[in-house]
Amino acid sequence: ATPTAFLAATGRGAQLGVLIRGPEALERLQRVDTVVFDKTGTLTTGHMTLLETTVSAADEDAAQVLRLAGAVEYGSEHPIGRAVVAAARRATDGAPLPPVTGFRAVAGSGVCGRVDGREVSVGRPRPDTVLPDKLRQALDRAEAAAHTAVVVEVDGRPIAVLAVGDSLRPSSEHAVFQLQVLGIEPILVTGDGPAAAHAVAEQVGIDEVHAGITPEGKADIVAMLRADGRRVAVIGDGVNDAAALASADLGIAMGSGTDAAIGAADITLVREDMQAVVEAVRLTRRTLTTIR
Ligand code: ADP
Ligand code: MG
Repeated sequence: ATPTAFLAATGRGAQLGVLIRGPEALERLQRVDTVVFDKTGTLTTGHMTLLETTVSAADEDAAQVLRLAGAVEYGSEHPIGRAVVAAARRATDGAPLPPVTGFRAVAGSGVCGRVDGREVSVGRPRPDTVLPDKLRQALDRAEAAAHTAVVVEVDGRPIAVLAVGDSLRPSSEHAVFQLQVLGIEPILVTGDGPAAAHAVAEQVGIDEVHAGITPEGKADIVAMLRADGRRVAVIGDGVNDAAALASADLGIAMGSGTDAAIGAADITLVREDMQAVVEAVRLTRRTLTTIR
């Protein structure tokens, strides 16, 4: 295609709220046959709220647990972290959260740090963690409801389960359907558990689901699809998606996403509207083929 065609397509893309980095990205978008979707913050809004707090031991109350959990989540960019911080502020009547030392965030896993002289972590339930019955039940209940459950540990002891959730983007279902009409196969790959993953997949009409996948695992799945000869776009928002975005034929970041995701992507969706992806594919197919 001619430079004029690229300019026209890029300009039209910008009007749709699709920022395209360079002519190669346009050509690769035109040829995409597989789209790997992240779940939280991509198919869903990423505006998570804390739905339930279940505390194990009698010596801790929910407000106290949220104060600790909110303190370590304060440094997190993840939607779960934002939800926990907001809940902690409500539970403690807006009192300042205690300071944290040695804060660490592990993408796709959780956060930890020292608060009030104790080692606090909030994160993905590990398969080897032995939970007291009450917490185990809370975890099962959250997963059955397709919520995301995370475990709060203090000095290595699980003391609470927090259930968080968000809702589907209104545009996700139709966009997935329209991509299929264009001959593009949608796949869901998420770090979240299988119950929440399958619930979202079913709501939007995606058949292939990979749940509980680490950030490196996401990139591995993309590499395998590409080795099969697929032309793969990845759509994501998180630090945990950066490796997959970079290893795809085409990385697409949600404009509301993290700097890591936007930096790793070829395309940014400025509007909170999944339909823009469909419009952008149509645009490249139309403009680049007619002028070629
Ligand atoms: P997704 O692919 O749905 O965006 P992530 O890869 O970001 O999910 O996270 C996977 C899992 O790791 C989450 O479902 C959660 O259990 C845990 N996790 C990640 N970040 C955090 C955090 N800041 N606080 C608590 N748990 C977290
Ligand atoms: Mg995400």
